[in-house]
Amino acid sequence: MSGDGDALKGAESEYESRGFARCRSCGAEIFWTVTTLGKRMPADVDAIEDGTMQLLQGARNMLSLVLTEHALEAARREGVQLYGSHFSSCPDAGKWRQQKGANK
Ligand SMILES: [Zn+2]
Repeated sequence: MSGDGDALKGAESEYESRGFARCRSCGAEIFWTVTTLGKRMPADVDAIEDGTMQLLQGARNMLSLVLTEHALEAARREGVQLYGSHFSSCPDAGKWRQQKGANK
């Protein structure tokens, strides 16, 4: 069996499965999250006051919940930590958009 190879893979992906990663463009620490639509979304690791996403630790992935305006108000009142998408805060976001545009 390929037990050894699997163990190595497991060690590598443990870091990823906890959601931590680094942005390939600017090198910032980010979380890789999965949205409710099942899309991978990079989020900044620091909670910010005007964030729009709530992060939840799922069984395998960090889940990001993009809140509506109404839900955001409630979350802020309750002191829920909110996070911003690294898509919008990345200094190299222009490059990301170009890549995305090619897909559309
Ligand atoms: Zn970045």
